[in-house]
Amino acid sequence: MIENLIKELNPQQKEAVTYFDSPLLILAGAGSGKTRVITYKIAYMIEKFNYEPERILAVTFTNKAAHEMKERVGQLLKGKADVFVSTFHSFCVKLLKSHSVRIGFKPNFLIIDTDDKKSVLKEILKELNLDTELYNPSLIGSMISNVKNGMVSIENFELKGYDRVIEIFELYNKKLKEMNAFDFDDLLLYGKKLLTEHEDIKNRYVDYFRYVLIDEYQDTNAIQYEITKALTLEKGNVCVVGDEDQCIYTWRGANINNILNFEKDFPHAKVVKLEKNYRCSGVILSAANAVIANNTIRKGKKLFTDNEDGEPIRLFEASTDQEEALFVGKTVKKLINTGFKPSEIAIFYRTNSQSRIVEDALRREGINYQIVGGLKFYERKEIKDIIAYMRVILFEEDKLSLFRILNVPKRGLGQAAEERLKKLLDEGYSNIEALNRIVLESPLRQREGFKEILEIIEAGKEKLETLKPYEFIKFITAISRYEDYLRKEYREDWETRVENITELGNTLEEFAERSGLSGEELYLEFLNTVTLSSDQDEMEDGEKVTLMTIHASKGLEFPVVFITGLEEGLFPHARSLDANEQIEEERRLFYVAITRAKKVLVLSYARSRRFFGSYRPTEKSRFIDEIPSHLIKPVSRKTSGEKTQASSVSSISSRSSIKKKPKIVFHKKFGKGIVKRVEGAGDTAKVTAYFANFGEKTIVMKFLKVLA
Ligand code: ATP
Ligand code: MG
Repeated sequence: MIENLIKELNPQQKEAVTYFDSPLLILAGAGSGKTRVITYKIAYMIEKFNYEPERILAVTFTNKAAHEMKERVGQLLKGKADVFVSTFHSFCVKLLKSHSVRIGFKPNFLIIDTDDKKSVLKEILKELNLDTELYNPSLIGSMISNVKNGMVSIENFELKGYDRVIEIFELYNKKLKEMNAFDFDDLLLYGKKLLTEHEDIKNRYVDYFRYVLIDEYQDTNAIQYEITKALTLEKGNVCVVGDEDQCIYTWRGANINNILNFEKDFPHAKVVKLEKNYRCSGVILSAANAVIANNTIRKGKKLFTDNEDGEPIRLFEASTDQEEALFVGKTVKKLINTGFKPSEIAIFYRTNSQSRIVEDALRREGINYQIVGGLKFYERKEIKDIIAYMRVILFEEDKLSLFRILNVPKRGLGQAAEERLKKLLDEGYSNIEALNRIVLESPLRQREGFKEILEIIEAGKEKLETLKPYEFIKFITAISRYEDYLRKEYREDWETRVENITELGNTLEEFAERSGLSGEELYLEFLNTVTLSSDQDEMEDGEKVTLMTIHASKGLEFPVVFITGLEEGLFPHARSLDANEQIEEERRLFYVAITRAKKVLVLSYARSRRFFGSYRPTEKSRFIDEIPSHLIKPVSRKTSGEKTQASSVSSISSRSSIKKKPKIVFHKKFGKGIVKRVEGAGDTAKVTAYFANFGEKTIVMKFLKVLA
């Protein structure tokens, strides 16, 4: 049995699996069998040394990965042992269950999520009578998280002008303690505390665990590093596995130095390098090697493979984002027709909002898809909310949508108000009639709220025919104060959500061009299509193509991979263009993306993309040029099968007159901004741009630097 296991490994992997004399670092590139070594090592320990499975601690990055690893070990051992694979969080929950009393918590503690956390903070801010503009609950929430993750000290925020932040921090911790609750960051933090400040507890676990293995070690943060050290430094019974070239979570506190300094921190550490890649074709691997060689923050390693060279990397230059999506849809279809299963195909993008255009194209081709690590575009909350606003404006009888947006954002319309409205609607009044009545009858506070809704509906109706579709969505978002609401309530990802709404505007522009409809007719048709397509989705079952952001693709592999939207400002992302370190992280992300592909890799970009409703020229990503050109075969637009649709789409783009306008500008105070409008020319031109932390501003050209 053991011999059979070992036979399936190459000499370096075998060495890594059978080495136990000192701490072990497996430092190796993508697809070289790191995760395989971990699973085989676990199986080996159980078979060879009769280690009790529960006394082996295996830790990985996500619950999904943990689940997969558990399955893989189970298969190797033919179901003879049930190993427990954890994430750092789930491991800490176990620790705390046994020992929370030692840090002053009762054993039956509560774990609170991001929403609960926000409610607690809101309460505190109210108690302290603080201005929630400056002390925004979700902003404070993420500050607290950064502090607990060991990224910064709380004093740091105090210095930045949040002079009550320490007080809030302390009160927050006190309240959680009173509730006998931990937030996600606390789990790690208190887990670490148990192990580093309570000698007896630490000894107990150091004794108990015969061996500790950690996958994706390059993405551990400071606290996770301390936990690892506490458990293993004395006995040196640890194997960590990682690839510094795949560290893609520094923005969440991952510290690349944890892996780069392993040999320094763990005395007598042995390093095994795996250099043979089993996953990718020769061509794909050569591309990955060439790309990552441009990074400087790395130890440097090279991968080779015995796999066949395979087909060249396909590169498609579309004239528009529409054409790009069409190309993806058609190519997926062709690949399925030539024998690939839908589940063997993955489509990646850099940001969440990019999924929409691909989703539409797949739906048009009748291809089933799933989104891993996220929701389908039309299922996202912000899209549902804005669509509910549209519906309320268009359909007088749509009660469901009315209730959905009644108090989103907050308008002081609680349960009592809702019931009052419901009663009238039940009596047969239409939305508008009911609202009009209720405005006359309600107590003052509610009256204002209901009035606001009425005004939104009326203003929306007025603009139905006069605004362009993109502007209409923008208008709804503005009068409903929805963007402010996102900014306040979703501090962690409000930008993504705003991007999604922007994308909804783009969708409508596209829909208008395709259908030739406008105004009310257009919106009615659009809403019907959306409702129908999401209904269809629910009925579908079986084989599916996978869509995901590159961050979510870590550790996975697919025979066919598409990487879309390879344009400057999108990938590398506009937020990363300033510093070389950030460009390197984007490049690592590109490396992760490429190395997920086994056989077929398809890259694509569009020469123009719709931003804020109208087409802007784009520049292809620098990363494409980092791939040696002999590995790439451009897909001609003629053979790509897009010709007929493509020509109609490109005529659209030429119609929207692509001039050389600035796309991204920089302002001393506001930072980087995405240009929405330019009025006039030269130094005195007025540029309206959107700045991530400041919103939309109009600024005279001479105060701006043009970045792209
Ligand atoms: P990543 O860096 O992307 O996490 P990895 O280094 O963890 O990759 P694995 O996922 O373990 O790589 O392995 C990549 C693929 O190569 C898997 O399909 C695995 O089964 C296969 N593989 C690894 N080693 C061998 C081997 N010695 N013989 C045959 N197949 C192998
Ligand atoms: Mg792996």
